[in-house]
Amino acid sequence: VQRSYDAIVVGAGIVGLSCAWRLARTGRSVLVVDRGAPGSGASGVAAGMLAPVTEADFGEAALLELNLAGARAWPAFAEELAERSSLDPGRRASGALVVAADHDDGLELRRLGEFQRSLGLESRWLTRREARELEPGLSPRTAGAILAPGDHHVDPAATVAALATAFEHEGGELAVAAEVALETAGGRVTGVRASGTPIAAEHVIVAAGAHSGVIAGLPESARVRVRPVKGQILGLRGPGGSHPLAARLVRTLRCYVVDRGDGRVVVGATTEDRGFDERVTAEGVFRLLEAAREVLPDVDELEVVTARAGLRPGSPDNLPFVGRGALEGLVWATGHGRNGVLLAPLTGTAISALLDEEPLPAELGPCRPGRFGALDGQSLALRSATPVPAP
Ligand SMILES: Cc1cc2nc3c(=O)[nH]c(=O)nc-3n(C[C@H](O)[C@H](O)[C@H](O)COP(=O)(O)OP(=O)(O)OC[C@H]3O[C@@H](n4cnc5c(N)ncnc54)[C@H](O)[C@@H]3O)c2cc1C
Repeated sequence: VQRSYDAIVVGAGIVGLSCAWRLARTGRSVLVVDRGAPGSGASGVAAGMLAPVTEADFGEAALLELNLAGARAWPAFAEELAERSSLDPGRRASGALVVAADHDDGLELRRLGEFQRSLGLESRWLTRREARELEPGLSPRTAGAILAPGDHHVDPAATVAALATAFEHEGGELAVAAEVALETAGGRVTGVRASGTPIAAEHVIVAAGAHSGVIAGLPESARVRVRPVKGQILGLRGPGGSHPLAARLVRTLRCYVVDRGDGRVVVGATTEDRGFDERVTAEGVFRLLEAAREVLPDVDELEVVTARAGLRPGSPDNLPFVGRGALEGLVWATGHGRNGVLLAPLTGTAISALLDEEPLPAELGPCRPGRFGALDGQSLALRSATPVPAP
C-alpha cells in the first residue's frame, strides 16, 4: 500500500470491484479496501438474478429503465471479464418463469404479465401444460406461468473472484481486513484511514454496501440514506447435469429458485427490515423451503448445504446513489438494493465516465446522490429554483 492514489474504493463487493476494475483500466492508480475479504458483504450471498422483466413492479418506471440498461451491459461485461481474468463469472442465459402456485397467484400473475407487456417487455403467458412442457419438474398443481425469456442469472461469488483477479491484473491494489473511515480536510474528502493508517486519494468512491450510510468520518449532511434490508437465502445440492431441478430461473410470488446447472441450487430470499441483524432464523428457512416445494416438489430430495443472510443496501426510492457527493473528492456507488449484481457493470462504467468528466448513462439521471437534499454540486446550483423532493 502506497501513501497516495488517484482513487480509493471502499468496499470489495461486486459494485466496488466493478468500479475499481474500470478505473484501473483507464491507467489510474486504484486501491480497494475492505474490512473483510472480497465478497464478504451482500455480493457473496446474492442469488445473481439478472432479471429486469420479472423484477418490474407497478410505479417503478425509472428503476425498470435502469435495470434494463443494467441487463444490456452484462453480456459484453461478462465476456470481457472472463477474458481478462481467465475465470468464468457463471452467466447462464436461461430465461425465467414466474409460476402461479395456485388459482389466486394465477390471477395476480396474469395482471402482472399484462403490465409487463404494456411496457413493451418480452413476456408471455403460459398455460400449466405449456409451463410443464418447458419445466417438467413443476408441480401439476401450478396454474400457469409468465415466461420472460431474457431474464437469467450469473454466479455473484464467481464474478467477485473474477473482478478481483482482473483488477489486480490491471495493476490495482486490494487491502483486506482493514476498517475504513473517510478523512476530510478543508471541506473535502482527502482520503481514508484504513485500520488507522492514513492514505490519500484524489477521489474516494464509497461502495460499502449496506454500511454506506454509516461510514465513519463524514458529517451528517454529506451522508446518503442507505439502510440494510436483510435477505435470507439457502444453498441446496441437487443432481445437476442432465437432471436439473429447473433449466430456467423459477420465481413465484414468495420465492425464487436458481439452478446453477452444476448441482448447486439457490432458494431465496426473504426481505426483512431488521437493522444490521444477519442471523439466519428458523422462520426464514421454513418459509423459503415451503415456498420452493410448492412449485418444485423435488426440492424435498435435495441436500441443504448453506443457510445464509445478507444485507442489501436499500434506498428510500429503491434507486441507487451513483455520482458525486456533497464534498469534493467524495463519490457514491451504492444503494443498489435488490439489483446490485444486475447493476454492477453499468455502475462501474458510470463511475469511470464520471472521473473522466464524461456524461453518465441517461438511465442513471434519477440516481443523483443529492436527490434527498444533501448538498451536492448540482443541487446547490438548482436549490433556489427546485424544491427538494420528498423522501
Ligand atoms: C439474499 C440476497 C439475494 C440477492 N439477490 C440478488 C440478485 O439475484 N440479483 C441482484 O442483482 N442483486 C441481488 N441482491 C442484492 C445484491 O447482493 C447487492 O445489491 C449487491 O451485492 C451490493 O453490492 P455492493 O458491492 O454495493 O455491496 P457489498 O457486496 O455488501 O459490499 C460492500 C463491502 O463493503 C465492505 N465495507 C463496508 N463498510 C466498510 C468499512 N467501514 N470499512 C471497510 N470495508 C467496509 C463490506 O465488508 C463489504 O465487503 C441480493 C442480496 C441478498 C442479501
